[in-house]
Amino acid sequence: MEMPIANRLDKLPPYLFADLRRKIADRKARGIKIISLGIGDPDIPTPAPIIDELARAVADPGDPNRHRYGCDCPVADLPAAIMNFYRRRHGVELAENQIAVTSGSKDAIVQFCLGLLNPGDLGIAPQPGYPTYNIGHVFCSAQTHYLPLRRANGWLPDFKEIPPDTARQAKLLWLNYPNNPTTAVAPLDFFREAVEFGRKHNILVCHDSAYSENTYDGYKSPSILEVPGACDTAVEFYSLSKGFSMTGWRVGCVVGNASAVKALRLVKDNADNGTLRAIQFAAAAALGKFETLTPPINAVYRRRRDLVVKALGEAGWPVETPKATIYIWAPVPEKYRGSSASFAEDLLEKAGVVITPGLGYGVAGEGHYRISLTYPDQVIGEAMERIRRIAEQ
Ligand SMILES: *Cc1c(COP(=O)(O)O)cnc(C)c1O
Repeated sequence: MEMPIANRLDKLPPYLFADLRRKIADRKARGIKIISLGIGDPDIPTPAPIIDELARAVADPGDPNRHRYGCDCPVADLPAAIMNFYRRRHGVELAENQIAVTSGSKDAIVQFCLGLLNPGDLGIAPQPGYPTYNIGHVFCSAQTHYLPLRRANGWLPDFKEIPPDTARQAKLLWLNYPNNPTTAVAPLDFFREAVEFGRKHNILVCHDSAYSENTYDGYKSPSILEVPGACDTAVEFYSLSKGFSMTGWRVGCVVGNASAVKALRLVKDNADNGTLRAIQFAAAAALGKFETLTPPINAVYRRRRDLVVKALGEAGWPVETPKATIYIWAPVPEKYRGSSASFAEDLLEKAGVVITPGLGYGVAGEGHYRISLTYPDQVIGEAMERIRRIAEQ
């Protein structure tokens, strides 16, 4: 029997990759070897010291609570490690009431919206951008105003483009640097501007720093909380997923504005039961060793980044070398007249290579495509070989 589903699910944006996914399945069924560079989920295993700590903690006979609800038996080491991390990495001092431990940022974005938005409220989200900000709004029957990011402005938004009515109404502003999908980074001065904008219009600035540790060539990504007084009007979503190769572990935090953190905690207290204690111990261990654990991971991505940048350049489709993230964001080759979908389709059809069309991140992403570096070197190498052959045609 077909059961009626909630109207809110009808409001979710259509899954733009559904069509591409169908085409991939079709090729696979015909025995064509497909190489996907589409998904941003690290292939590099979680570093051994983090796994060791998980194994220790989950089997620790001295911890009678090790199997229990992570919310009722929280590991005090984790907020302490988060405080320490923000102090050492960013020079930011956090208080206990400015930290909420989360099950990763995707989950936390939706829960956060539930704690902050009423039906009919307005949130501002970047485009191209991570889709979950808008999805959080949709689940709250709130609206999204899209703020375009453009290459000409280094993929940073221009707050002056936000209409006065929108600025007056909006409750949340989402930002994400280093940025998915554009790979852009933001200087601290940009965050200063964002904090000022938030303060002026009474908007909570929500910075998603999922890629803050995935940086190269000595670049260090700032936290929005480094701006003096940022906690008055900003929060940061931090996650161990990408920096420590821990996507499946589901652990991160939201830090900053205490009243927003309190609202998120209240939602979480009522909607989930926290993270397994062993994962909390392991996350604390990871944060405590970020200086030694993240560089080997980044060395792998940097090598792949250089491989792709070089190959695309040689193919006559030059791209900029990103300072951060686990992606390459590139303009669609000229002959496709800016259509990322036709480029993606051609690559799939003629080369069996899957890339992500920029249009999937909203119309402002059109004209570009994204390659993920989360695949083994040989896989990326083979994909580049195939792309080179297509480019020569
Ligand atoms: C991957 C990603 C996340 C999600 O990370 P989790 O903590 O694993 O949920 C959040 N934001 C952006 C921009 C991402 O690319």
